Amino acid sequence: MKKIKKILIANRGEIAVRIIRAIREMNLSPVVVYSDADKLSLHVRLADEAYYIGESPSTLSYLKVDKIIETAKISGADAIHPGYGFLAENADFAQEIEKAGITFIGPEPDAIIKMGSKTRSREIMSAAGVPVVPGTIEPIKDTNELKDIAEKMGFPLLLKASAGGGGKGMRKVEKIEELEKAYERAKSEAASSFGDPDVYIEKYIEEPHHVEIQILADNYGNTIYLGERECSVQRRYQKIIEETPSPFITDEVRKEMGDIAVRAAKAVNYRNAGTVEFIVDKDQNFYFLEMNTRLQVEHPITEMVTGIDLVKEQIRIASGEKLGYAQEDIVPRGSSIECRIYAEDPFNDFSPSPGKIIEYVSPAGGIGVRDDSGVYEGFEVPIFYDPLISKLVTWGRDREEAINRMKRALFEYRIAGIKTSIPYFLQILENEEFLSGNYTTNLIERIESVKKEDPEDYEFVALFATGLRNLEMNTTSSQNDVSPDCSASNWKKYGQMKSLRRF
Ligand code: ADP
Repeated sequence: MKKIKKILIANRGEIAVRIIRAIREMNLSPVVVYSDADKLSLHVRLADEAYYIGESPSTLSYLKVDKIIETAKISGADAIHPGYGFLAENADFAQEIEKAGITFIGPEPDAIIKMGSKTRSREIMSAAGVPVVPGTIEPIKDTNELKDIAEKMGFPLLLKASAGGGGKGMRKVEKIEELEKAYERAKSEAASSFGDPDVYIEKYIEEPHHVEIQILADNYGNTIYLGERECSVQRRYQKIIEETPSPFITDEVRKEMGDIAVRAAKAVNYRNAGTVEFIVDKDQNFYFLEMNTRLQVEHPITEMVTGIDLVKEQIRIASGEKLGYAQEDIVPRGSSIECRIYAEDPFNDFSPSPGKIIEYVSPAGGIGVRDDSGVYEGFEVPIFYDPLISKLVTWGRDREEAINRMKRALFEYRIAGIKTSIPYFLQILENEEFLSGNYTTNLIERIESVKKEDPEDYEFVALFATGLRNLEMNTTSSQNDVSPDCSASNWKKYGQMKSLRRF
């Protein structure tokens, strides 16, 4: 294996910045690529070299395999880190990189292919003795077969795109009358999102928890797990808050899941960092959902409790180094939580909120607060990409401390000029069910239905959010403009008014 000195990052935003940090701390050189919309991006400002690769739409820049590999050659990079999203799980990309004599920081293309299709990976996992969600292995052939299987399996069930990802092409079906229509919809969404209309059936696990295991594997057969992440705070099948350890599973289940995740990885000769996702029912039975063959968005919470820098480990493994520790050396400490800060308006159906950030004050700085941000004051958030602008992460000696620290940090976070999901998180972190630790992926649905039925609650939350925004604006306008509801003392008042809210 070649020594790695210079690494090109085939990505943008917060994850490109995160990777630059690891590269620099290893005394290596970070190289980035950028599109028109990203000329002034933070990743461009922080890298040693930055290369323009095309127009703003990702199909004309960040998804251009040839252009990125050619740029890596021109820059003299010995390796490429794909981050997540874009080309991270594209086996052809990994293959082309290796063909060009450059190191791909990730697994072998073969493992990406095997885990890339939900139906194929279910087949391989079943054969390896990894429990998968009951359902079909093969895609559904026609509506007759669909009805047959659905009737045998019972409702509710879930239709899923074989090539799925990001919750697309997925439909929950409660009763037989809804089946055909849902099938047509799932197929057409799968075709338009992934260019593959194949859909299969899974039993819908009631009161589900999403728990995933981080694994690391070197090239010498050493595969270990680094604990789990509870990712059950989801909106439309998309994660928005993650925490570790899971407040739901027992130590016994934790170990079983870890061992099974290692088995899953070994079944496809996995190397580098990866995540095995499980769905867990109310009795803590767990089933394989999928394996993400890349760095996960929520990887920082694992880093906070293990002290292991996963990006550095990825680079070390790709350079041919052995894992420097064994399973028994992994002893997670304390508790960590992450909130995904999106440039979107939580009070307007989470519509994207691109635009210029006119004020930006990050809460990072106090004990146990990490802000993996990709933006800065004056930056214009583009419309073209995922609206994730920052990941706010806290650590605490226990769950309560991590949550309280997160609330404090969210309150300090000031972003003006665009709307963000920050006020929304404050509601979730006050919710009784969330605080109990035994919450399921239905949590957000329940919170939102109460909110809709209860204008008083909704109004208060909206008022609080406006207060936050006005408070943010206030530092750039006159102090006298602050209404009593929008002052910093609102934090206290917010605490007192909690009793008004019932979700
Ligand atoms: P994607 O790859 O599109 O993200 P996943 O298979 O990872 O799809 O599932 C995303 C989310 O959908 C899960 O975290 C979970 O909330 C829900 N989900 C998936 N499969 C099931 C199932 N069989 N039963 C209940 N919920 C499910």
